[in-house]
Amino acid sequence: MKPPVFDYFSPASVEEALTLLGEHGEGAKLLAGGQSLMPALNFRLAAPAVLIDLNPIGALAGVHVASDGRLVAGAMTRHRWFETSALIQQRLPLVQHAMASVAHVAIRNRGTIGGSLCHADPAAEWPALCLACDAEMVLQSGTGLRYVKAGDFSRGLFTTALGGAEILVQVIFPAWPETRRWGFQELARRRGDFALVGVACLLDVDTGGTCTDVRIVVFGATDTPVLLREAASELTGRAPTDHHVCSAARCARGGIDCRSDHHASAEYRSELVQALTSRAIAQALARGNDVRDG
Ligand SMILES: Cc1cc2nc3c(=O)[nH]c(=O)nc-3n(C[C@H](O)[C@H](O)[C@H](O)COP(=O)(O)OP(=O)(O)OC[C@H]3O[C@@H](n4cnc5c(N)ncnc54)[C@H](O)[C@@H]3O)c2cc1C
Repeated sequence: MKPPVFDYFSPASVEEALTLLGEHGEGAKLLAGGQSLMPALNFRLAAPAVLIDLNPIGALAGVHVASDGRLVAGAMTRHRWFETSALIQQRLPLVQHAMASVAHVAIRNRGTIGGSLCHADPAAEWPALCLACDAEMVLQSGTGLRYVKAGDFSRGLFTTALGGAEILVQVIFPAWPETRRWGFQELARRRGDFALVGVACLLDVDTGGTCTDVRIVVFGATDTPVLLREAASELTGRAPTDHHVCSAARCARGGIDCRSDHHASAEYRSELVQALTSRAIAQALARGNDVRDG
C-alpha cells in the first residue's frame, strides 16, 4: 500500500524543526531513517498530516568524544555507522557487536539511534543497549534541553518520556572503563528478525577478578527492557564461579514476568531469559582483560 497524503517539510536546523512541530502539533511526525515510520504509514497504522524530515539537519548526525571521555552520539547517526566505526569498536564494543543483530544491512544503512529509541519497540536492541550502558538522552524543545536517563526514557510498549514538542537530539554514553567485560546474546527466528529475547551484560572487574559493578539487561521479554538488579547482585562483590552464574540466570528468570504473543509463549521466553543470561555472563567473564580489543 501507499502512504496517506501528507505535507513534507525539510528544515535546516533543530530550531526550525521545533518551530514546525509547534505549528503543526499532534498532526506532525518527525522522520528519521523511516525504517519504522514509513512501513507504519504504508500499512495505514499512522496517518500524520505533516512529516518533518530530520535528515537535512547535519548537526544531528555524528559522534564525538567529550573531554571527560563520554561519547556523544547525534540522534541521526545510523545503525550501520556504529557497526563499522573503529571508534565505537574501541569505546563501546558491546554496541558495535550488537548492531549486527539489528535487522539487515539495508535497514541499518538508514535506521538511526534516535529513531529506534523514540519508536521504542520492546524487542529493539538500542533501548536495551542504552539501558545497559546507563546512557542519557538529550531532548530539545523550545524552552531548552532536558536530560533523561535511559532507565526513565522507556515508559512502555512503543512509549517513551519524549514530549510532543521535543526532539531527541543526542545520546550520551558514559566513558567505558578499561576493566569492563561484556556479553551479548539474543535469539531471533531468522537472522535480521527482531529478537524473541535478548540479554546484554556488563561486568566491571577489578584486578583480583572481583565484579565491582554489574549490569544485566533483558529485552524482548516484556514491554520495555529490564535492568535486573537482583540477578546482578548474585555476581557483585564476587569472583563469579559457575554456581554464581547459574544463580544469577535463575534469578533473572524469576525476576521477569514474560509476555506472550504469536511469536513465542511466556514460558518459552522465560526459558530464553535464563539460558541467554547465563550465556551472556559466561561470555563476559571469558573476555578476560581484552575488552579494548572488542
Ligand atoms: C524488516 C525490518 C526489520 C527490523 N528489525 C529490527 C531489529 O531486529 N532490531 C531493531 O532494533 N530494529 C529493527 N527494525 C527497526 C529499525 O531499526 C528502525 O531503524 C528503527 O526502529 C527506527 O529508526 P528510524 O531512524 O528508521 O526511525 P523512523 O522510522 O524514521 O521513526 C521512528 C519513530 O521515531 C520518531 N523519531 C525519529 N527520530 C526522532 C527524534 N530524533 N526525536 C524524536 N522522535 C523521533 C518518529 O517520529 C517515529 O515516530 C526493523 C525494521 C524493519 C523494516
